[in-house]
Order: sequence, then C-alpha cells, then structure tokens
Amino acid sequence: MRKRIAILGSTGSIGTTALRVIDGLNSSLVARDSSPGKEGKFEVVALSGHSNIKLLAEQVRRYRPKYVAVSDVDCVEEFRRLIEGLDVKVLAGAEGLTEIAELEQVDTVLAAVVGVAGLHAVLGAVRKGKRVAIANKEPLVIAGQLITAEAKKYGAELLPVDSEHSAIFQAMQAGRHEEVAKIILTTSGGPFRKANPAGIPNASIEQVLAHPVWRMGPKITVDSATMMNKALEIIEARWLFDVPAEKIEVMVHPESIVHSMVEFVDGSVIAQMGSPDMSLPIQYALTYPLRLPGSAKKLQLDRLKTLTFEKPNPQLFPAIEMGFEVAQKGGTAAAVFNAANEAAVEQFLAGRIKFGNIVELVRHCLDNCNVKSNTSLEELLEADAWAKKEVMECLKNHQLR
Ligand code: NDP
Ligand code: MG
Repeated sequence: MRKRIAILGSTGSIGTTALRVIDGLNSSLVARDSSPGKEGKFEVVALSGHSNIKLLAEQVRRYRPKYVAVSDVDCVEEFRRLIEGLDVKVLAGAEGLTEIAELEQVDTVLAAVVGVAGLHAVLGAVRKGKRVAIANKEPLVIAGQLITAEAKKYGAELLPVDSEHSAIFQAMQAGRHEEVAKIILTTSGGPFRKANPAGIPNASIEQVLAHPVWRMGPKITVDSATMMNKALEIIEARWLFDVPAEKIEVMVHPESIVHSMVEFVDGSVIAQMGSPDMSLPIQYALTYPLRLPGSAKKLQLDRLKTLTFEKPNPQLFPAIEMGFEVAQKGGTAAAVFNAANEAAVEQFLAGRIKFGNIVELVRHCLDNCNVKSNTSLEELLEADAWAKKEVMECLKNHQLR
C-alpha cells in the first residue's frame, strides 16, 4: 500500500502530528517487513508551510520531499537560503500550494492549512481525483456542495480528519445511508462550559487559548471557545455525509472520549471512542480501509469512571444555533459566516476586539448579507471578501458593544 503524500500546512499542529504518524507507520511497516533497511511505504513527496520557514527547512532536511511550497511570498527568499544545496523544488505563494496539491507524483493530499487559504488547493486535489484527507474544514464549510460534487465527478476520495467527522465516518460503516436517523456531534464544551455567562465576553486571550482537552493551532482554539468550531462542524458534516441540518444534533461531552455518534432508524447508536489524540483520525484517513498499529494512547476503560452527555446551553453558546441556521440556508450564507469569523478571530488575536465581539460580528454579517443560492466559486469568494470587509467597517465605525 505505498502512498505518496503531500502535506499542506506541515508546520502546523495537524501537519507536525501527521509527520509523526508517518514516522510511526513507516517504522512499524519496516519492523514487520523482514528485509532491514527497506524503504518506508509512506513517502513524503511534498510539504508546505506559510511563515514558519525555520521549521519547514528542518522538515525538508529530515523528510527530503521533492517539492516544497512556501505560501507566504515574503518568506521564500530566506527559505531558499535555509535549504541551500538540497535537491528540492521550491514553489511560491498560494499558487505553489495548489501546485503541490495537484502533483502527478502524489496520490494522497493531507489538507491541514488553516482557513479559506486552503480552498483552491483542496479543489485542485479533488479535481485530480486524489485521496484528500481533510482537516482544513473551512473550505468544506464555504464550498461543501461544490467540493463534494467535484469529488464524485473526478473520483476523488474525501476522508475526514476532524476527530468528530472521522468518528461519524467510522460509525456510518455500521449501516446504510438511508438508515441514518441522526448524527450526534460531540463537543468538550471548551474552556467556558462552567463559566459565568456575564464574564465570557471579556475573557482574555490567555483564557480563551487554554483549551481543557486539545492542543491545537490558535484559530481553532478560539473557535472552540466561541463554539464557532462546532457550528463549522455542523456544516462540514452536512456536506461530508450528505445529511440535512435537521438530522444533526450537538451534545456536550466533557470527557472527550466519544468523538461522535450515529443513530440509526432502529434506535442503535454507534459511537467511536478513543483517547483525545489527533494521531488516530489522521492515521485512519491515510490508511483507510486498513487499520494499522498506531501511536495513539490506548483507552483504559476501567479508569474512565463516567461518560457524561448534556445538551449545550444556547445562552452560553449562541454560535451553535447559528451553525444550524447557516446549514439550513445554504448558498453563500456559509461563506459569509466563515469569513466573518476568520476576520474577527484575527482581530481578537491581535488584541483589537473583545472575545464577545467575535460572535457579535458574525451575527451582524449574517443579518446584513444577501444570501444567494446555487452559487459559483466566484460568488462564494465574493461573499467571503464582502464579510471580511464588513468586519473591518464595523471596527472602523466603532459599531461594537
Ligand atoms: P495551525 O495554525 O497549527 O497550522 C496552520 C498551518 O497552515 C501551518 O502550517 C501554517 O503555516 C499554514 N498557514 C497559515 N496561514 C496560511 C496561508 N494563508 N496560506 C497557506 N498556509 C497557511 O492550525 P491547525 O493545524 O490547528 O489546524 C489546521 C486545520 O485543521 C484547521 O482548518 C483546523 O480547523 C483543522 N483542525 C485542526 C485540529 C487540531 O487538532 N489542530 C483538529 C481538527 C481540525 P506556518 O505555521 O508556517 O505559518
Ligand atoms: Mg473537531
């Protein structure tokens, strides 16, 4: 099962975990193969980073990919100096990212860039009929209808990496699509599950970034505190599994052991459990349909004591209801929703707005946009640009609470 892999966003949290997963897979495959020194079966053909070029250069020295994309054009020259003498083709800018996603020498693309920046590369890989292991949820949120239609047309495989969607994908194998009654997405509840609602809007960056379970990149960590992450995941599930919003439910599960569930029409609920460790869903997306020994910590059921589930409190987490609303609306609504959030999170992390302003700005953009249905990629990108501009206008005009 030789796999030739491109990792988009190899310098991030998912990207670095994926490289460790590949190391683990290769060493266990070599150990099982009697001929010592035999090449690993998962080959890293291409990597990409944006601005962390020091780490990217270290990865290039270690994994010796044939191609590397540096998406931040301002970092390319310095990167070339860092890898002088190495036999690797350097591609620059957003186009470089798409080029490595489309390479003929690659059969599996791990999409682990953050935000809308990964959209063209994901579409490129899909249109080349590749296996796309997708962590980068934002392109699916914005253009899920288009991406899933193109995957069908070009014979591409879209395999979820997001832990909830990997769990649903695994649970779905227990029945047929028409037998699914509902999808139950779980959430840890983030850092503010037990907080006093009055204090949350003024939470500091440090409080927001202190996730109780997962260590992730900054954008998704903020999204987990606002619950925008769960809202994005509702839309992601809607497209990945072709289910209407009415068949999706969210449950708070602070232990983060059940990664999501599928209820079938006969009442059976199939759950996927595991330690909260992204290496498992990353590995499964790479090795599917096989399961291979992996590095994820094994569950010790006798130490779990209790697993609890509760409905999310809408006063605490208004973003979840917005996620359902947007999933029902379709068209350009999700592009506006995602873009307003991306822009607002950036402003929050830069210290320019309060935590509570993020959801406020997203609500404002949703209430003031013109939702178009049956949209083209251009219209989706126009909606993305409109919402980002609208967020900046609100800031300029001091329209925030
Ligand atoms: P990180 O912030 O840790 O990493 C993001 C990666 O994208 C880095 O390699 C970064 O490069 C690169 N990048 C940043 N901006 C751009 C850009 N404009 N163009 C191209 N590349 C860019 O994020 P995560 O790894 O946490 O998340 C990646 C994706 O996976 C997100 O969509 C997230 O929602 C999803 N996800 C993450 C999970 C996790 O556990 N982390 C769990 C489930 C989903 P550099 O660092 O070199 O600047
Ligand atoms: Mg998730």
